Amino acid sequence: MRKPLMAGNWKMHKTIPEAIAMVKELKPLVADVKDVDILICPVFTAVYPLANELKGSNIKVGAQNVYWEPKGAFTGEIAVNMLLDAGCSFVIIGHSERRQYFGESDETVNKRTKATLAAGLIPIVCVGETLQERESNDTFKVIEKQVKDGIKNFSKEEAEKIVIAYEPVWAIGTGKTATPQQAQEVHEFIRKTYSQMYGNDAGGKVRILYGGSVKPDNVSELMKQPDIDGGLVGGASLEAASFAKLVKFNG
Ligand code: PEP
Repeated sequence: MRKPLMAGNWKMHKTIPEAIAMVKELKPLVADVKDVDILICPVFTAVYPLANELKGSNIKVGAQNVYWEPKGAFTGEIAVNMLLDAGCSFVIIGHSERRQYFGESDETVNKRTKATLAAGLIPIVCVGETLQERESNDTFKVIEKQVKDGIKNFSKEEAEKIVIAYEPVWAIGTGKTATPQQAQEVHEFIRKTYSQMYGNDAGGKVRILYGGSVKPDNVSELMKQPDIDGGLVGGASLEAASFAKLVKFNG
């Protein structure tokens, strides 16, 4: 009932020609995939050229961040209507690297998510605990706060459209993946929390992605978990062959 989503977060990698070359290779590898939504989130400069290159394909383009004001004197920022204009359909919001290096908070996550939904784009809201928080048994407390504060004050209809990505900070780019059981228990907790906030319908419909060193050799075990609905993938999304294997996680 929940369609899996495999999303590539390219972070600050790839020039426009490199980005185009990758998707030209990827397109035929995944052309037959119908049961998985496929998304690439490149750097801002590559959004428009990639969206053009991918027109008519089954691969969508997203951005890695967005500002909540529609326009104005906000040097260095970008508005949702500009992303829509450039061909985006998704936006990653509150990635741990943005929380860690650029002062992102649950409050700004909430504002970005509101603006994104209002423009008709789909937000992918990232949550996740640090290693220290996990080791002090604070994982559920941290995740609950991020979900309740970052994704508050939406209608049921809006809440159903939001995608959540659980990304334990200690697993991002480290090669240390959460075990399928560790990931599943947090995904289940997020779904329960979301159901309390927006009702069982929204809790049942919201897609929850796992992120943190997802690779071709661990994707199928992760995807077998009942509350894991896809992946948000950094490193393994940069090469067409490995990303195609993730998209085709079920063989
Ligand atoms: C990410 O960028 O969100 C991520 C999970 O990175 P990686 O897959 O490289 O750990």
